[in-house]
This record gives sequence, C-alpha cells and structure tokens, in this order.
Amino acid sequence: MDFTELFDAINDEDLEPNSDIGVLRDVLHAVTAQKNFDMRTMKRFGELTGKAHQHRRLKPSTEEISFELVGLSGSARKISEFALQVEEILVTVELARVKMCEGEDCESLFIDESKNKSRKWCDMAHCGMLRKSKVFYDNHRRVKAEASK
Ligand SMILES: [Zn+2]
Repeated sequence: MDFTELFDAINDEDLEPNSDIGVLRDVLHAVTAQKNFDMRTMKRFGELTGKAHQHRRLKPSTEEISFELVGLSGSARKISEFALQVEEILVTVELARVKMCEGEDCESLFIDESKNKSRKWCDMAHCGMLRKSKVFYDNHRRVKAEASK
C-alpha cells in the first residue's frame, strides 16, 4: 500500500487543525508521541472511518480481493480513502515505525521503512542535510574558537 498521497496531505503546512485531514493527522501524531487519542479525535476518527466503511464494497473482480468506494465523489471520497488508509496503518504497520521528523521546525510525519528503524527525517535531502550541515558548522566553529584562544 502506498501512503504517499496521505502523508503529503497530512504534512501540508496549510492544513487546518480542525479539518477532517487534521483529525487524521492528530491520530497519527498521537501514535508518534505514544499518547492516547483524546476523546474528540477518537469520536471524529470514528465518524470518518464509519462513513468510509458504509461506502466500501468488495470489488467485483476475479483476480484478487480488493475494495472500492461507491457513492462518494470529490473531497468526500478522498477523505474516506485517507481515513481507511490511516485505519490500515494502525492495524498493519508496526506503530514504532510511525514517526515525526526530528528536523528543526519540521513536524512532518512519515513511516520508517528502513530495516533497523533508524530513519529520523522526513527527507534526508532536506531536513537530514540541514541537520548535518549544522552539526558540521557547530563543530567547525568550536575548533576555530579554540584555535584563536
Ligand atoms: Zn523534516
């Protein structure tokens, strides 16, 4: 299952905190923080997944078992798809793999799919490099400061 689109949506900087996607973010954020879901988030997440399940049908396909959403379109359909994906993450993904980026000023959530669960950044090329160059800069400055004593 590819969750790229879901994470793009919940990591959007312009995300409204009380929007439906904001609720999905709150659920995954609670997982990364190893906190319990608050009642309001749980209730709204229940409504979102409940609605999605009402519209979910087994796809009449002979090849493999899959589901489709019927009777929903536009943003309602998207939200339902996302709600089901979050549910799938909660059920199928090892929760220690749901993480928040350790980059400064970055609160992006992601699923760590590395072998030893060592991933720390949403994007190595961005937050990872910023962090590395900052460590390099700090070390470099300390060496220079000591040298000039
Ligand atoms: Zn980041």
